[in-house]
Amino acid sequence: MAKKFVVAMMMHETNTFSPLPTPIESFARSGDLTGPKAIKEAEGTNTSLGGFIEIARKAGAEFTVPMAASANPSGLVTKAAYEQMTAAIVEEIKKGCDAVLLALHGAMVAEHYDDGEGELLNRIRKIAPDVPIAVALDFHTQMTDDMIKGATVIAGYRTYPHIDMADTARRAGRTLMRALAGEVEPMMVWGNRPIMSSSLVHTPSREPMKTLMGMANHAEDTGQVLNASVFGGFPQADIPHLALSSVIVCDKRTAEGEILLNKILDTAWEKREGFLFHPEPLSVQVARAKSLDGGPVVMADHGDNTASGGTQDVMSVIEEAMKQGLEDACAGPICDPGCVEQMIKAGVGAEITLELGGKIDMPAMGLKGKPLTVTGKVKAITDGQFTVTGPMATGTTIRMGRTAVLDTGKIQIVVSEKRAEPFDLGVFTHCGIDPRRKKYVLIKSRQHFRAGFEPIAKHIVMCDGDGCTASDLKLFKYERVKRPLYPFDLDMRLGRNEA
Ligand SMILES: [Zn+2]
Repeated sequence: MAKKFVVAMMMHETNTFSPLPTPIESFARSGDLTGPKAIKEAEGTNTSLGGFIEIARKAGAEFTVPMAASANPSGLVTKAAYEQMTAAIVEEIKKGCDAVLLALHGAMVAEHYDDGEGELLNRIRKIAPDVPIAVALDFHTQMTDDMIKGATVIAGYRTYPHIDMADTARRAGRTLMRALAGEVEPMMVWGNRPIMSSSLVHTPSREPMKTLMGMANHAEDTGQVLNASVFGGFPQADIPHLALSSVIVCDKRTAEGEILLNKILDTAWEKREGFLFHPEPLSVQVARAKSLDGGPVVMADHGDNTASGGTQDVMSVIEEAMKQGLEDACAGPICDPGCVEQMIKAGVGAEITLELGGKIDMPAMGLKGKPLTVTGKVKAITDGQFTVTGPMATGTTIRMGRTAVLDTGKIQIVVSEKRAEPFDLGVFTHCGIDPRRKKYVLIKSRQHFRAGFEPIAKHIVMCDGDGCTASDLKLFKYERVKRPLYPFDLDMRLGRNEA
């Protein structure tokens, strides 16, 4: 008899300092939260939901997708949205199934729960205590005991930019399929260290995370353990369980897993200084970009990064670039639906002056929205839709809403109705701009831009723009994180944290 699987996605990275609300509408980016359209949207894409659908098909299982929800990072998930998403998943599992495959983020904070994923798994375990559950998580997971207790197998992304999302689901799914076949008996061990690692410097492609991820990858790839993952954590969240963590999935006995776990976490603690971010004045960074020979010079504003909860409408970097006279530049996308409307009304070719961006205040950061006055010609108007061809989330459809390009003569600025982090050249090419031919490319991103833009960049200059995803953690007011926590309590001797 064919096996029955429940496959679901419920993904959000919550920035508790972001002023943007996260209602259910934010999760239905493709239109449908469930059913055949949601499956079609995800199937064959480089996403964890895409990877789990592939696992289910290969297993010859009948499967349903009761929830395919993924929102851009933003503020707290509303209670109503959280209840709707979890109820759909739990109700489907209640009908009975042989396995559950969950594409989660691992950093969801709802209005009424700090640990969105742990609570979902608690609810599932109440109605299905024994069903095998595989969970694929983002590298920026804030790991908790509840997640470990609820899941059978956990695997996290090994990369940042996250170019291995489907593969992460395959890794978790493969172990679960072996468990279903009676080949292995997964057991998990986990731990953390009280390190708030800056997401600007903690990518596994560079040290010190490279060493840690290398240990995990080696142990998993050589079959010493079933799965091994390291999680950087997500610093823009004021929650008690913020930490750098690791999860090892072992077969039957956990002794080797515990040795590996401590080796990874102790190394993280030894190398903790490498996870610190060192701020610099924006004017110095823009001047450095200006002094560089050749192009494109990719200027990445990491203070207002949509994929960390940014409003994507802070104008500080573009303002400084204009002040210092940068030209032959493209910039964006800036999210400002009102300005898009004005440009569409004016029409292609029309000259227009806009109060661009700066529409949203950020009270948690003590920042007021500050629009920038810009004058130029409307160069293009599009539907803001394109298919990703680069290595991250390959094959997915990006929908930026109606989009327009303002050409000031020196800078071409892409303005969109919705938010989308520029990790694929499509944000520019779909509206007729070739960033490869520009001297300066101004984008809002901390790491994911490297997927699409690093290959075309002659130089990369990181820009400390304003916003609620700033990398200088001193700008945030943390009240609920567990202390002591590095780097706030620099005199800490012991790294171990009773999780
Ligand atoms: Zn992430």
